[in-house]
Parts: sequence; structure tokens; C-alpha cells
Amino acid sequence: MSGIGVIAVTARGRAAAERLVEAWPDEARPVGADRPADALRAAFTECAAVVSFLAVGATVRVLAPLLGDKTDDTPVVCVDEGTRHAVAVLGGHHGANDLAHRVSEVLGSHPVVTTASDTVSVTPLDSYGHDLGFTLADRGPLATVGAAVLSGDPVRVEGAGEWPLPPLPGNADPSVPTGRASAVIRVSDRTGDGAEPGVPTLTYRPPSVVVGVGSARGAGADEVGRLVDRTLAEAGVAPDSVRGIATVDIKADEEGILAAARERGWEVTCYPAADLNEVRVPNPSETVRAEVGTPSVAEAAALRCAAEAGRGLGAGAELVAAKRKSGNATAAVARLRPRGRLAVVGLGPGARDQATPRAVAELRRASVVVGLDQYLDQVRDLLRPGTRVVVSGLGQEEERARTAVEEARTGAAVALVGSGDAGVYAMASPALDFAGADIDVVGVPGITAAVAASNLLGAPLGHDHAYVSLSDLHTPWEAIERRVRAVAEGDFTVCFYNPRSKKRDWQLTRALEILAEHRPSDTPVGHVRQVSREGERATMSTIQEMLAGGVEEVDMFTVVIVGSSASRTVAGRFVTPRGYRWRG
Ligand code: SAH
Repeated sequence: MSGIGVIAVTARGRAAAERLVEAWPDEARPVGADRPADALRAAFTECAAVVSFLAVGATVRVLAPLLGDKTDDTPVVCVDEGTRHAVAVLGGHHGANDLAHRVSEVLGSHPVVTTASDTVSVTPLDSYGHDLGFTLADRGPLATVGAAVLSGDPVRVEGAGEWPLPPLPGNADPSVPTGRASAVIRVSDRTGDGAEPGVPTLTYRPPSVVVGVGSARGAGADEVGRLVDRTLAEAGVAPDSVRGIATVDIKADEEGILAAARERGWEVTCYPAADLNEVRVPNPSETVRAEVGTPSVAEAAALRCAAEAGRGLGAGAELVAAKRKSGNATAAVARLRPRGRLAVVGLGPGARDQATPRAVAELRRASVVVGLDQYLDQVRDLLRPGTRVVVSGLGQEEERARTAVEEARTGAAVALVGSGDAGVYAMASPALDFAGADIDVVGVPGITAAVAASNLLGAPLGHDHAYVSLSDLHTPWEAIERRVRAVAEGDFTVCFYNPRSKKRDWQLTRALEILAEHRPSDTPVGHVRQVSREGERATMSTIQEMLAGGVEEVDMFTVVIVGSSASRTVAGRFVTPRGYRWRG
């Protein structure tokens, strides 16, 4: 097996094939065009790889009888005659994906790669940490460092630890030792960090420090600005990492401070003296206390503001420059500890196009994804290379919630995933029960089963409706029955979750009997099994039919919607009228 066999039958195809042969004289060779099917088959068995200028369909049809195990199929790339696309058709992971890129370099086509792990690209470095406010100190090394990450070279990642960043592939890791790194990715607010000679280093500036400022009335912007710059320089802190200036609220209109901040593009945050009074500082002053009612302005305001921006009130900020003075001003610098991030993500009922773009973005944003194995299998191909996946089995809800929160507490960006909406009979509430103020929490809504089902059935939720879970695993049946009764008396349309299992086989029947006491027995009932998943089945029925055996079709993969007394079936569709009288 040797070389790349290139096959083309039309004049345009042959011209493009010729360009490949010219570009790779030692590798590529044309294979006979007289009997293309035979030539293609021969190339597939004899060559190390094949570039076919036949359509994908034609190529696959000819080769189909020869296809074996995916690990030993010859890589095949198909290119259209217009050389717009180079499609990796067979053997993606053992050559075709790369070949599609190489072909594209020569022909100016677009590589089309459809194998799962290659469709989600590595987190792009030019926007790494962008949503956290990171800026690049110097874009210069971007291309070299990016190439090192993509080529799998050892890249040391420094200082990213506590920032909830997106993942990078395994070769980019904090443990790569000095001397072995081909490149360095550094997250640092320090100006003095040296670089290893000859090792390209990409430095991100995180928004990690706050400058606290105090001044006498009328102190000029120049004086304040010079003091701030000097304080940062002496502390070795990069001005690009400054989030803003903090001070006491009686300085809210102090023009010198405001102008110095404005010139540097920073915001000013002010705190009441009483709040600053609570902050412990290394250099309190009785003179200051007598004047403004707190013994420290610069140090206390810097610490306070950094702590709020980071890990919640009063905790986690450190002073990196103690108070410095000029004639009429004081300045100090505090560094915050960033907060981890927990995204609670609803994946929708099943089908990929019923997950929101935001849910997909959050999955790619996370460096740790926690969830039930069956849901994670649904989305594994969406995760960026380097994402750590923590799976658990059915029933271990508390453990899953705790794991997700603990991971976020270490500073990581964590996504806790659930089907439908993660807040509906799912993981959001146990997770938020554990989560403290020391992590950020973001909820991403998903389409819940009842909403997906209602759209298949018609419009059963057109008026007031209620959700009831019939699972008495965590709720006593008396409580559930009381709610079903209230729903019956209130004449709500009702969506039953967890309706029926092998062990819990009478609850749905009982609930329907209660409803039947308050609404007609021909009230429509719709039930949908496996909404938007393989085997989806939507069924229309009535309370009466359900009680006469229809419940047998219902299991734990089913959601059941029972109409109100106003619901009807119109042309086979479930409709609950809106019930308002429009005034003309
Ligand atoms: N968080 C989920 C609900 C979890 S409770 C959501 O928002 O959809 C589990 C119950 O939800 C199941 O017993 C079933 O009643 C319902 N359910 C969830 N996904 C479903 C689907 N794809 N098809 C039908 N019912 C579903």
C-alpha cells in the first residue's frame, strides 16, 4: 500500500487532480480514468489513501462492497468538480480528516469533516476567557501557541487554576514541566513574570485587581493618576488587570479621582464609610477615622470591592499593595479570588434540535460536565476536547448535585445537565440546596416534556394548567392525592410526570378517577412516550378509555396530559380553548 490514488473522470476533475499530483509529486498518482469504478476499487485496495473527484454517492456505491471495519478502511476524500468542498468520507480518524485539510490547502476548497470528535473544535485561544474579561497582553504569540495546542505539543498552562475557563485539550496542562513545554499559556496580572527563552508565551490579563483610592478634597487628577500608576508598578501589577477604582461614597463626586479613572477607562465604585469600617486592614489611621468615619479608605475599599467581585462578601480578597501616599492622596491594590461557575443546563426532551443554542454553548463553555450517563451520551459529541465528564447512574441525584457544586467550588466551570428543563422535577433544586454564595450559578432553560408533548398533541395547554408528579418515592401519596383533588376542583388541565412504573401501577388510575368526579368522562387525555426520541408515540384517548385499560400503555418514559372540562378534540387534535371573551 503506498501513495495517494487520485481519480477523476471529467475534464475539470482531471485538471484539479493534476494540481494535487503536481503539489505532491512523491505521494499522489493518478489512477486510470477509463473504467472509473474498477480504478476506484483498485485504488481503495492498493493505495494508502484515495482522493476521488466523483460524487460522494457514486464513490460510496462503488466502494460499499469493500468496506470492512472502520479501523482499517482506506481513508477516502471526495472533492466536487468545482473544488468547493473536500469531504472526508471514509477513514476520518486515520487519515481522511487530515487529508481533507491538506487537499483544501492545495485546491482552496473547504474541508468537510463529520466525525464527532473533530466537529467540535478546540476552545479558540483568541477568545479564551473573553466572557470573564480576560484580555491578551500581546497577540503576537497567538498563532504559534495556537498551533502548539492543536498539534498536541506539550503546552504549560499557568495561573488559570481558579478561573472558570473553558477546557483545553490534554496536552495543554499545568503539569508540563519547565524545559519540556513547547509553549506557555499564562493567566497572570503580574508584569514581572519571566518567559523561558525561546518558548512562545501567550499572556492573558484577568480582571483581577481593584485599586482603592482616597484623597483630600480637591486633589488633582494628575496626582491621583500618578499615585495609582506608581502603586501598580511597584506592586508589579499590570494595569490591564485593573477592574476599577473603589473609594468611600463621600468621594463619589471627587473630580480628581473620577478623572483619573476616566482617563484609564476604569469604573469607580463607592462604599458607605460604615461598610468600609467593617473591613480589617493592615494600616488603619485614626486621623482618617476622625475625618470620614472609617479608619481606612484605600485599603478597605480595595479589599471590599475585590471581595464582592470575587468570592462573595468579605471573603477571599488579598491586599497586593498596602497603602501608598502622595501629598493629597492614598492608593492600595487588592486582588480577588475568582468564583467558580455552575451552569444548570436543560437539554430538552431528546432531539438535538430541541436543545437551545444556549444550552449547547454552555456545554462547550464548561470544563467539567456532570450528569446522568444516558443524557451525557446524548451530548458527548458537543463537548470540546479536554472536557472532563463525570457520569453517574440513575437515582444518585444527591451525589450528582453535590459533585457538581464541589467541582464549581474549586473554581471550575461546571455544567450540570438534565433532560427537559433541569429545574423541572430534576437536578436544579438539589444543586442549589448545596450551592453557597461562593459560586456563580447560571440556569439554562430547556423544553420540558409536557411542553414538547403538548405540541405533538395539539394545544392542550391553552388555558390554566398544573404539573403533578405521581411519584410517591419522595412525596407521600396523601399529599399527591390532595393536589390532584385540588387540580380536579380547580378544573385545571393537568400534566402528569412520572405517571406509572412496574412498581407504581395504580397511582395514575387513582388520579384519573379523582379527575373523573369533576369533569366529563370523555374529557380528552393525550399521552406521549419518548417525546422527540427514537420510538416517539403520541396517543389521544379519554378519561373513560384510560380507565378501561388505556393506562397500560403508560410508563415512566411517558407524559400524560388530561384536559379540563373545556378541552375538546378537534380533527384528532387536543385543544383547550383560551376561554377569554374578546370584546370587539
Ligand atoms: N426534567 C424533566 C422531567 C424529569 S421527571 C423535564 O423537564 O422534562 C421524569 C419524567 O418526565 C418521566 O417519568 C416522564 O413523565 C417525563 N419525561 C421526561 N422526558 C420525557 C420524554 N422525552 N418523553 C416523555 N416523557 C418524558
